[in-house]
Amino acid sequence: MCFEVKERDLAGRIGLLRTRRGVLETPTLMPVVNPVKNTISPSELKEEFGFNLIITNAYIILKHYGKDAKDVHEITGFDGTIMTDSGAYQLLIYGGIDTTPEEIVRFQERIHSDIGVILDVPTGGFANREEAEQTVRETIRRAKESISWREDGTMLWAGPIQGGRYLDLVEECARAMGDLDFQIHPLGSPTQIMEGYDYQTLVDMIVTAKRVLPPERPLHLFGAGHPMMLSLAVALGCDLFDSAAYALFAKDGRYMTQVGTMRVDELEELPCSCPICVKRNVEDLVEVPKEERVGLLARHNLYIVVEELRSIRESIREGTLWEHLESRCRTHPKLYEGMKRLSEYKEYLEYNDPIINKTLRGLFFYDEVSMFRPEVYRYKERIFSRYSRPKGKDILILMPMPDEKPFNRSKIYKLLKKTLENRDDMHICFYGDPFGVVPSELSETFPLSQFESAIGLGRGWRESVEAFLASKGYREAFILGERVKGAKTIDSIEELERLSDFLEERNEGGG
Ligand SMILES: [Zn+2]
Repeated sequence: MCFEVKERDLAGRIGLLRTRRGVLETPTLMPVVNPVKNTISPSELKEEFGFNLIITNAYIILKHYGKDAKDVHEITGFDGTIMTDSGAYQLLIYGGIDTTPEEIVRFQERIHSDIGVILDVPTGGFANREEAEQTVRETIRRAKESISWREDGTMLWAGPIQGGRYLDLVEECARAMGDLDFQIHPLGSPTQIMEGYDYQTLVDMIVTAKRVLPPERPLHLFGAGHPMMLSLAVALGCDLFDSAAYALFAKDGRYMTQVGTMRVDELEELPCSCPICVKRNVEDLVEVPKEERVGLLARHNLYIVVEELRSIRESIREGTLWEHLESRCRTHPKLYEGMKRLSEYKEYLEYNDPIINKTLRGLFFYDEVSMFRPEVYRYKERIFSRYSRPKGKDILILMPMPDEKPFNRSKIYKLLKKTLENRDDMHICFYGDPFGVVPSELSETFPLSQFESAIGLGRGWRESVEAFLASKGYREAFILGERVKGAKTIDSIEELERLSDFLEERNEGGG
């Protein structure tokens, strides 16, 4: 097996990808390298930036150097792992290319590419249904055929997933590709969808593919390389990225940051301390000849990408990918919309997220989006399906979650217990967001008292309380300070005292 998962957080993972040129840690990004001319040389990408993996284009090599081209490592001057694309992107952009699926597969073997891609047919972001169906059908047909053309067993092969925004087609294609002998699966066609900032569709596409693909194969999100969206894709399970954006943006005078892109000539100060920016000011970047400026900007952009990849990997190790994601997604409303889409995939995230909390750090809740965390979904699921109230405690008292944690050691809880005279048939539970209902005996379990929340009481708890009341078989239920179907409301201390007397009398009456 060429891919091994070392750590997980959400559906994101740290993995080791073995190629014949070495072992690569994922998630990572491969800079797109032109085999003929580059802003940053491939050897500098390795020596200065630490990239052991690049992607270049076999079709361009074929056109430029002909059928007898040399080893791709020699052509590019890069001795790490090289993935080659097949020209399918050119097919998407220019509508036609001058090679065949068989020729380009055999050619990639000939030039000793370490990871090859079949010549699939990209769906693109604008295809209609019928066109999308055709691209999927043809991609699957070529994928099956391509396997018989392979001769070199040490090379890895990528089987792209097409279908675009048609999720049933994405699923069909992912299933078919997952059954075939491929080691990596690129998810095709996201570029135009990302250019339109349609992150909701992107989220749908990634999850749809991931759900049916073999988990031991890395997923490569084709053409995605802006640092601001990497964490969202990683959290959903993408392992590999490629991007030419660092260089393309540089040519256009655009300066990347972790949270967006700016025009360098509109800046007053450089908000970065990478080796390029730390010793320069804006004038130094703007008033140099264009070619030099492009080089400097491309290097800065790449440092930003490297920094983001490192911090994403670190957050997976720490178990704080959700926090990382929340901060990134707040940098653009469309990205935030993409994150809100996770509410549709709570079950998927929970299934993939490791149950063990690695750092025992508390969870942070900012607003309703934080409520989509897998820990919340997991807890609510379990309290509903697996929890039974303690034997004999058949009167439920619901009180709001106190500020003090753990709840069962708070002053207000102790006071309530005392007022109600510590009765054995009485079960005190706490209500409020984010966890809905917390039985007092569970209130010291992680993460029920290890969280900080800015949500307050919230609204989400109502549904949990109603489900709890309907399923746990209490004889009677009382709720402090709120109105909920199935429970009697207690609004004041006097009422609470009356309740205590009432329970007492009934007890004496043999109840
Ligand atoms: Zn910089």
